[in-house]
Amino acid sequence: MSDCIFCSIVARDIPSSTIYEDENILAFLDITQVTKGHTLVITKQHFRNLLEMDQAASATLFAKIPVIAKHLKDTLGATGVNLISNMEAAAGQTVFHTHIHLLPRFDEQDGLHIAFETKEPDFSALAQLADQLRLEKL
Ligand code: 5GP
Ligand code: ZN
Repeated sequence: MSDCIFCSIVARDIPSSTIYEDENILAFLDITQVTKGHTLVITKQHFRNLLEMDQAASATLFAKIPVIAKHLKDTLGATGVNLISNMEAAAGQTVFHTHIHLLPRFDEQDGLHIAFETKEPDFSALAQLADQLRLEKL
């Protein structure tokens, strides 16, 4: 897709620090390196984000994620890894081509701060919401 920076990376029109490539995906270092080894795993085919992908296309992408995450963790001596995929601007997506962030973790001062605002559980609201959201078949 023209005007897509990640399609340009796939086409080698702009350079990237690639660490893995096969016929379907590319993994390269994020220029901002929020934590050391911060990697983006992308599909070679252009999709806006995961919300636009069918099960087969996303399965091909996700099949390789644990292997790449483990490789980053082991090679860099990290103690954990976060996986993030922002879908749409409201969720923080800035590049509209499917990508998975893999962020090796080292300690609390490693540059990544994720804060879940927790609430007291309301079990009747949970049951109602589960009724609303239940999926019968995928
Ligand atoms: P998003 O905010 O869409 O989840 O993440 C987009 C990511 O792409 C950002 O973390 C940003 O640093 C990264 N990024 C944007 N442009 C480039 C680029 O030209 N090369 C690389 N390697 N990363 C990029
Ligand atoms: Zn693209």
